[in-house]
Amino acid sequence: MASEFELIKKYLARQPLQRPDVILGIGDDGAILDIPADERLVVTLDTLVAGVHFLDSDDPYDIGYKALAVNLSDLAAMGAQPRWVTLALTLPTGNAQWLEQFCTGLFELAALFNVQLVGGDMTRGPLTISLQAHGTVPPGLELRRSGAQPDDWIVVTGTPGDAGLALALACGQVTVPPAGSSDHQQALRQRLTRPTPRVLEGLTLRGQASAAIDISDGLAQDLGHILESSRVGATVWVDELPRSSAFAACIVAAGLDDETAIQTILTGGDDYELCFCIAPAHWETLRAFVATWECRCTIIGRVEAAPNVRWRYRDGQTYVLSRGGYDHFC
Ligand code: ADP
Ligand code: MG
Repeated sequence: MASEFELIKKYLARQPLQRPDVILGIGDDGAILDIPADERLVVTLDTLVAGVHFLDSDDPYDIGYKALAVNLSDLAAMGAQPRWVTLALTLPTGNAQWLEQFCTGLFELAALFNVQLVGGDMTRGPLTISLQAHGTVPPGLELRRSGAQPDDWIVVTGTPGDAGLALALACGQVTVPPAGSSDHQQALRQRLTRPTPRVLEGLTLRGQASAAIDISDGLAQDLGHILESSRVGATVWVDELPRSSAFAACIVAAGLDDETAIQTILTGGDDYELCFCIAPAHWETLRAFVATWECRCTIIGRVEAAPNVRWRYRDGQTYVLSRGGYDHFC
């Protein structure tokens, strides 16, 4: 079995990417980083625990990828430019093959967003991954949860609900006949295992969106955080909620009704899409940019002064939301 130092040297210190703002990276007692004088540091941390956030048997590539993706998603929701990450790894054994694949997944996503691993810690114990991401944003341009105003549009990126449905399929809570929908199931599974952090979208929203959050615990719950922080309420039009073709196909194949589909979109976790509020005038300016985004972007509702959320069909009928957010277990 490889020693801790061998593992660090062989796998973690081997990231090809070298940012010029890393004065000193892995190998000393601490990293030294150059922060632009006119920007502020944004720091976020997420922990993934085996058996809770993923299964021991999951592909280590996916675990590495997702550990970084969920952190970059938090930076995206702040409008921050990602720069560096630190990693605390607790491993049951010094399993070199596991670590190699984990690093491959982690470094692949890190390369896409030009993020460098600059340090961390290794301990022995039940498999746990804590990753801290560091980004920067000019003062005043950050996206907070607290700025939503009455009459702002409420917008989501991508198609929330895909990951929640993938998880329900993986857990056997939802079943589909074997024939026909395997491509769609695969597409949904990809959204669960390799979410795309909306970093570029978050950067575009700087100074434009009035509030933003990333959707980790379900759209209903996370929108609730924005509204509570901003001391406002909202109406959301449930038949405007975007659905991917894979989602729609699996809902049909599983024989689920429309209400259950809406509930999955609103309460399924793990999407890592952005939900943001934006004044109509700013939305008009931004629309041309948004059209060039790789992900779709959909207005789903409107901020109102009266507290709480009113879930409505476009014809005015009320939709009753029966469950809260994803509770971290199948
Ligand atoms: P110390 O004992 O001084 O805390 P370590 O021996 O734990 O230092 O770590 C040696 C170097 O390896 C440090 O630069 C540390 O940041 C880095 N390192 C340790 N574990 C990890 C990890 N999981 N990911 C990235 N870098 C790591
Ligand atoms: Mg030391």
